[in-house]
Amino acid sequence: MQKGAIRVQTENIFPIIKKFLYSDHDIFLRELVSNAVDASQKLKTLASVGEFKGEIGEADVTVSLDKEKKTITISDRGIGMTAEEVDKYINQVAFSGAEEFVKKYKGQGDGANIIGHFGLGFYSSFMVSSQVEIFTKSWKPDSQAVRWECDGSPEYQLENTEKESRGTDIVLHINEESEEFLDEHRIRTILEKFCRFLPVPIKFQGEQINNTSPAWVKKPSELTADDYQAFYKELYPFAEPPLFWIHLNVDYPFNLTGILYFPKITKTYEIQKDKISLYSNQVFVTDEVKNIVPEFLMLLHGVIDSPDIPLNVSRSYLQGDPNVKKINAHITKKVADKLDEMFRTDRKSFEEKWEHIALFVKYGMMTEDKFLDKAGKFHLLEDVDGGTFYTLEEYRTAAAAVQTNKEDKLVILYATNPTQQDSYIAAAKAKGYKVVKMETMVDAGFINQMEHKWENVMFTRVDADIADNLINPDAATQSVLSEAQEGTLKDIFTGQVALPGVKVELKGLGAQDQPVIVTRGELMRRMKDMAAMGGSA
Ligand code: ADP
Ligand code: MG
Repeated sequence: MQKGAIRVQTENIFPIIKKFLYSDHDIFLRELVSNAVDASQKLKTLASVGEFKGEIGEADVTVSLDKEKKTITISDRGIGMTAEEVDKYINQVAFSGAEEFVKKYKGQGDGANIIGHFGLGFYSSFMVSSQVEIFTKSWKPDSQAVRWECDGSPEYQLENTEKESRGTDIVLHINEESEEFLDEHRIRTILEKFCRFLPVPIKFQGEQINNTSPAWVKKPSELTADDYQAFYKELYPFAEPPLFWIHLNVDYPFNLTGILYFPKITKTYEIQKDKISLYSNQVFVTDEVKNIVPEFLMLLHGVIDSPDIPLNVSRSYLQGDPNVKKINAHITKKVADKLDEMFRTDRKSFEEKWEHIALFVKYGMMTEDKFLDKAGKFHLLEDVDGGTFYTLEEYRTAAAAVQTNKEDKLVILYATNPTQQDSYIAAAKAKGYKVVKMETMVDAGFINQMEHKWENVMFTRVDADIADNLINPDAATQSVLSEAQEGTLKDIFTGQVALPGVKVELKGLGAQDQPVIVTRGELMRRMKDMAAMGGSA
C-alpha cells in the first residue's frame, strides 16, 4: 500500500486558471482592487486590536494607467507583505491569506469583512498581463520591501527592493491581446461597475469613484425614508420613485444584507428583470440573480449582499447550494412579512398600492407555496366597482350565502373586461352577487391554480352560465322559513336554528369563523332539499 499527497503541477494548472477561471476578463481589476481593499481593512483590524501602533493615514487605493509603458498599477497602503508572506500567499496558488486572516481575527474590527476567499483572485491578473510585478512592504516594524515578478510561467523572481511607504503596488504589464484595457474610459467603466460601493476610497485619475458607505450596509434604524429614496436614485437615476422597500439584515445562520425596492408596476409598465445586483462584501458580483432571488421577486429592484454566496461557480452549482437555498427562502419570507405588516398596520394605503403589487403577489402565490400560505392573509380581490377590496375570507363571508355551488364551493365571480361585460355585471349585481376584477396578465393562470390551491373555491366568469352553478338560496330559504316559521334569515346566521330534520349550531357570522361557512353551505343544501320535499322531513 502506498499513501501520499497529490501533487498539483503548476504547469498544468496555470493555463486552466488563465483560461477558465473567469470567462469575463474585466474581473482582473475587481480581484486586484478587492485585494487592495482587503489589505487596507486588515490594517485597520490590526490597529483596532492594538497590534499595529503606527499611523494608518489615508488608507485608500489608487488605480493608475500608463499608456506608454502599457501598465496598470493598483496601489494600496494596507498591510503589505514580507518576503515570507509573498512566498506563502502568492507563490502557493490557492492558499488564501484572506481566509486565514478571517479565521484568526473573526469578530474583531473589520476582520470578518474580507473579500478574498479562494486564493485564486490574484492570478486573474495573468489573463490580461504578460508580466506582473509586486512591490510590497509589510506593516511590521523594520520590514524589508520586496519585489516579486512573474511572466505567467511557473517561474518567479523574488528580491529585495526599495520602497518608502507601507503597502503594495501591483504592476500589470498588459499583454498584446488585452490592450483594450489601456483606455481610461474602459478602466473607469469597469471600476464603476465593480467597485462603486467598496468600503475603502478607490481613486482613479485623482477622483474617488466609489461611495464607501452605501445605504444597505447601514443599520435600518439609521436611515430615513429620504435616505432610502436617495439611494434608489443613486442606483437608478432615471427611474420613478419606488413604492416601498425592504431592508434585509441577517447575520445568522448566513450573512445577508441589502435593500429590495418595489417599483410601481402599472399596466403600461415595461417589466424589467435583472434589476437586482448581487454584491459580496460591497464588491459587485452580478446582475443575474436568478436562483438566488425567487423568480417572482425578480421584478424588484435593488441590492443584495452576501459573502456566503459562492461567486465563481456555475449556475447549476448555485441552485443546489444550501446557503443559496436558505437565502432564497429568507427573502421570500421577508417580502411576505413586509406585505403582511403593511396590510395590518395601514390597510387603506396597502389597498392603494395593490394595483402595483398585485402582479407579483399573484405570481408569487402561483410559484412559491411558502409565499402562498402567507399571502392568503393579504392577497386582495378587487370589486369591479373599484375601491372595494376583499381578502378571500372576506369575500367568502360576504358572498357565500348566495354564491355557493352544489358541491359546497364558494363561487368567485369575476370580470376580465368590466366595460365589455357590463350588462352581465349589472345582472349579477341585481342578484346580490359580488363580482371582482381579473384583468392582469397573470390572472388566467392565477385562477387556474387557485382553484386547486385554495380549498373549496371555484371561479366563474361573470358572462358564463352562473345560475346553473349556484344553488338558489333565496327561494330555498324563503320557503323553508315560511313552512318552519323560524324567524328571519338573520336569525339563522346568528343563533341556534332548529329546522325539521336539520340540527345545526351556528356560532355567529364572524369573518374568521370559517367552519360556520362550511356548515352554512351544508345548511343551504339541506334547506333546498327540504323545500323540494315540501318542508316535511
Ligand atoms: P484571496 O484574496 O481569495 O485570498 P488572492 O489570490 O486574491 O486570494 O490573494 C492571495 C493572497 O495574497 C491574499 O489572501 C493576501 O494574503 C495576499 N495579497 C494579495 N494582494 C495583496 C495586497 N495588495 N496586499 C497584501 N496582501 C495581498
Ligand atoms: Mg483576492
